[in-house]
Amino acid sequence: MTALRQILLRRIAATGPITIADYMADCLLHPEHGYYATRDPFGTAGDFTTAPEISQMFGELVGLCLAQAWLDQGAPAVFTLAELGPGRGTLMADALRAARAVPGFHDAARVHLVEASPVLRARQRQALAETPVTWCDSAADLPDAPLLLVANEFFDALPIRQFVRDPAGWRERQVAARDGALLLGLSAPAPIAALDHRLADTRPGEVVETCAPAGPIMQQVAERIARHGGAALVIDYGGWRSRGDTLQALRGHAPEDILAHPGEADLTAHVDFEALAGAATGIAHTAMTPQGVFLERLGITGRAQTLARGLAGPALDSHVAAHRRLTHPDEMGSLFQVVGFHPNSTPPPPGLER
Ligand code: SAH
Repeated sequence: MTALRQILLRRIAATGPITIADYMADCLLHPEHGYYATRDPFGTAGDFTTAPEISQMFGELVGLCLAQAWLDQGAPAVFTLAELGPGRGTLMADALRAARAVPGFHDAARVHLVEASPVLRARQRQALAETPVTWCDSAADLPDAPLLLVANEFFDALPIRQFVRDPAGWRERQVAARDGALLLGLSAPAPIAALDHRLADTRPGEVVETCAPAGPIMQQVAERIARHGGAALVIDYGGWRSRGDTLQALRGHAPEDILAHPGEADLTAHVDFEALAGAATGIAHTAMTPQGVFLERLGITGRAQTLARGLAGPALDSHVAAHRRLTHPDEMGSLFQVVGFHPNSTPPPPGLER
């Protein structure tokens, strides 16, 4: 039995069932046994892969999008270039390389990475060896300055709670224990004022998810953009409103039961973009735009053709497959969505115009 399962069983025996959020937080970020805290999970040998790991084009276009937003806002002499949950640092490295073509951008950028995992911080240091980087524990530590920020597959890793609609209110899904095994249970039903607004669009038996940390993080980002200018791109899978049970575990590129391997599987849930937009007070947000549409508008096809010229054989095949994977509606193109955030007085970041 894994160490984290033992810890969870002992904790539940001592203090009772825990919320899905507590389970997720321990599985992902327990300092000794958490999934992200102990490993680099990306790539074909890992558990899952992400857009910046699929092709350099993703980070390049994100970098140019942010650079254009910087130009559109008068090219402030000093600004924070930040990423939430940068993984291996690939996106930021590709973004910086592409934005080198924009005069003044590099001199003005102060790179800040918000990352909880020491293992991944070390990977990011390698990927960005030539760039001065400041690591932050939370978005609250970002400087009080203009902010250009990207978050790709960050919000889906934050702990969620799940509530099942019941004739008598809501029952929270919990992780309980019986005979040395973890199992899912439900709390007693009770009304929850914070979910009153979901009574109109749900029926008994339906699941609603909430993500407590997401709002305050978005608020920290929005405050800086409202005060000093800038823009944020949030890219993730999800929808405009949380619907149903979206919690999933992924290990070795295959889905599995969320309780099967605590701390050894990636756990994610769909992002509720409406909740993020609601937390971004004082700034504007763009329409939720499919990743494929966003990347096409930014010129991914032209970039793909340029890169293809230098390739042949299997390298060319995998480049063509990567382009398709990022943009095609049957692949990541419409599963992933992009929402941009910007000051009310400035144009939306390119690619996200209505
Ligand atoms: N953006 C990267 C990685 C996505 S995986 C990519 O697209 O490849 C999620 C990332 O968020 C990891 O780097 C993980 O360590 C980090 N992370 C998860 N929860 C976090 C938290 N609460 N605070 C800071 N970083 C977190």
